[in-house]
Amino acid sequence: MGRLIAISNRTAADPSARAGGLAVAVWESLTSTGGMWFGWSGNIVKGEPGPPEHITDEGVDFIVTDFTEAEHDGFYLQYANRVIWPVFHYRVDLAHFGDTDFDAYEKVNKRIADMVVPHLEKGDSVWVHDYHFLLMGDFLRKGGWDGPIGFFLHIPFPSPEVFRALPEHEQIARAMCEFDVLGFQSENDRSNFVQFLVRSCDGVDEGDGWISVFGRRIRANAYPIGIEAESFAKLAVGQRAKTAATRIGKFLGGRKLVLGVDRMDYSKGLPQRFEAVGKMFDNFPSTRGRVSFTQIAPPSRSKVEEYQDLRVQLDELAGRINGDYGDLDWIPLRYLARSYDRKELAGLYRIASVCLVTPLRDGMNLVAKEFVMAQDPDDPGVLILSQFAGAAEQLSDTLIVNPHDRYHVAETIYKALEMPLEERQERWEKLRQTVVEQDISWWRQKFLDDLDVDTC
Ligand code: ADP
Repeated sequence: MGRLIAISNRTAADPSARAGGLAVAVWESLTSTGGMWFGWSGNIVKGEPGPPEHITDEGVDFIVTDFTEAEHDGFYLQYANRVIWPVFHYRVDLAHFGDTDFDAYEKVNKRIADMVVPHLEKGDSVWVHDYHFLLMGDFLRKGGWDGPIGFFLHIPFPSPEVFRALPEHEQIARAMCEFDVLGFQSENDRSNFVQFLVRSCDGVDEGDGWISVFGRRIRANAYPIGIEAESFAKLAVGQRAKTAATRIGKFLGGRKLVLGVDRMDYSKGLPQRFEAVGKMFDNFPSTRGRVSFTQIAPPSRSKVEEYQDLRVQLDELAGRINGDYGDLDWIPLRYLARSYDRKELAGLYRIASVCLVTPLRDGMNLVAKEFVMAQDPDDPGVLILSQFAGAAEQLSDTLIVNPHDRYHVAETIYKALEMPLEERQERWEKLRQTVVEQDISWWRQKFLDDLDVDTC
């Protein structure tokens, strides 16, 4: 059995990145193959970084490097998060195409590849993660590695027209074709990538995921990422969850809860969502005083200007909506700019009548799946999901909305609040089955089978 070698920006050697389902899934694969995991240490240093740090934990070898200030800025803050992130989320208007940031992006991809190659042995398979490392396949090949490389993109892949807006798109596409198996969150993303190769690179779609391009034969498939479904369901009935539900229950005083839980990111459609909630109070007067919307949105990437602007916009909108609709004994919209423990979140999901997951664009959206698993089978809440979230392909039995259409979203929230118990149960049961069957282990296995990695 060959080893699996993972490469991602943050690794599970970093305690803050360890809790997520992805870290657990990758870690489990590595422990079963005796693998290694390469990435960033999370530290930024002045001057040149020292030699990579080697950490061994539960049989997994982590090799992580510090970034210089220039690398952290050019590679991470600028090119990855202010160019690729907005363009891949269809926000070309927010992209900052600087002069030198792509150089930094290339150099970090190369530096990590050079760190990995000397450790690779015949029979190994490499698994690269996400938009930070789109060039990794090319640099691993240039370093002499000709074994299998898989790549999974956690964020959307945009339509060919939008991808072409990226000044370096040709080089990026060519480098991506050095991977052997490319994984996308949805069929839509996969088809965008394949269409680009067919239209712009003389690629031939051979069917069944196979593509011939640039003299190579590669595979591109959709592998929608899942959550640790059963264990999340258990969290929702645990003590911490119950305590959180009791606390918010006191605030609600018998009113129904409409909930949103997102990182504060412009891709999540938060201003549009706030406006839709305002419209609901406007157009459906019976909801006034009976329903309360709570949005949990911890600030993220707060050094980046676009995220600071979003914060200001949300502060203003929340103030306006509460000013317009609030009353002496009722706060229509609450917005908590902080994060909560997963166990507490599970309790909030469970008590919510409706969960609003309305990103303008999202690779998958795990909140939607967590909400489903946290429900009480006797009285499940209703998920309202954006058609632009990857999760909409799998969770089509829920209420799907266009997040730009505030009137329709407002109407759909009202419909969800009024939905009869039987219909809620029927829909929820279908969603639950999908989330349980297509959980994080299913995702990992599906990808590794295609990469021909034998894990037990
Ligand atoms: P993204 O990866 O873009 O942030 P996802 O919905 O796919 O979006 O994943 C978000 C993860 O972060 C989920 O597991 C969710 O539980 C967690 N999360 C989101 N908001 C909060 C919050 N306010 N506090 C704690 N965890 C959060």
